[in-house]
Amino acid sequence: RGGDGSPVIAFNAPGNLTRVLAIASGKGGVGKSSLTANLAASMASSGLRVGVIDADIHGFSIPRMLGVEGQPTRVEEMLLPPMVDGIKVVSIGMFTPGGRAVVWRGPMLHRTLEQFLADVFWGDLDVLLLDLPPGTGDMAISVAQLLPNSELVIVTTPQPAAADVAVRAGALATQTSQRVAGVIENMSWLDGPDGQRIELFGAGGGELVAKKLRETLETEVPLLGRIPLDVALREGSDEGRPVVISHPDSPAATAITSIAAQL
Ligand code: ADP
Repeated sequence: RGGDGSPVIAFNAPGNLTRVLAIASGKGGVGKSSLTANLAASMASSGLRVGVIDADIHGFSIPRMLGVEGQPTRVEEMLLPPMVDGIKVVSIGMFTPGGRAVVWRGPMLHRTLEQFLADVFWGDLDVLLLDLPPGTGDMAISVAQLLPNSELVIVTTPQPAAADVAVRAGALATQTSQRVAGVIENMSWLDGPDGQRIELFGAGGGELVAKKLRETLETEVPLLGRIPLDVALREGSDEGRPVVISHPDSPAATAITSIAAQL
C-alpha cells in the first residue's frame, strides 16, 4: 500500500515489464475463457512467467479449465495465488461462497479487481492475462482504468452477427486509449470425416472484426488466427487439462500455440 493507504499496482509502476492482455468478446459462449486458459498454458510452457485473473463475473470458469484447486492463502497483508503448471491464478469465483453467482455492482467489482492487482503477490510476471466478462460492462472499464497499459484481444466466431458485437467490445479501446493487440476467430470450422471443412457458423467474422477495428481505431489490428472446432479442446477444458498440453498436435492446439507465439 502507498503512504496514504491507497493500493499500489505494481503493473503500473514505471519500468514494469509485464505485458497485460485482457481477453474480451462481444457475447458469451464464443470460447473466450477456453482461449485465455490455453494461451496461458501455451505461454507458460514456452517458459514465460504467467498470471491469470479470471474477471468473468458471469462465468468464472478459468480454475476448472486450468485444473487449479484451492484458494489464495493470506500471508500478512498479501494473498498468495494458487499455481498450476507455473501459472498463477486468481478467480472471482474463489471469493464467492459456494461459487454462487456474483450480483455485485460496478464499485464492488472495481474494488475486487483493485485488490487482485494490488494485494495478490504476483512476483515478476512476463504476461498477465485477464478473462473479461463478455461485452462492454463495468469490469472492462475498470480494467482500462486500473491498468491503462493493458491491451485488448478480441475473440469472435465467424458469424457476421457475432462480429458486430465483437467490434463494439474492441471499439471501447477508442475511449479508453487501450491498444488492441489483435482478433482471434474461434469455432471457425469443423473437420468433417471425409476431410472436408464444415463452416458451421459461416465465415469471415474474424477478418470483418479486424477490418472494422482498423477503420475505427485507425491503426493496425491483426487477425491473429482462426481456431477450428475441436473435441479435444472441449474435453481438455472440462478435464482441467488445456488442449495445448493434453493434445499439442491437435488442430485447435496448433492454432492456439501459433497465436500465443505472435502475442
Ligand atoms: P466464453 O468464455 O466465451 O463464454 P467458453 O470458453 O466458456 O466461452 O466456451 C464455451 C463452450 O464452448 C465451452 O464448453 C468450451 O469448451 C467450448 N469451446 C470453445 N471453443 C471451442 C472449440 N474451438 N472447439 C470445441 N469446443 C469449444
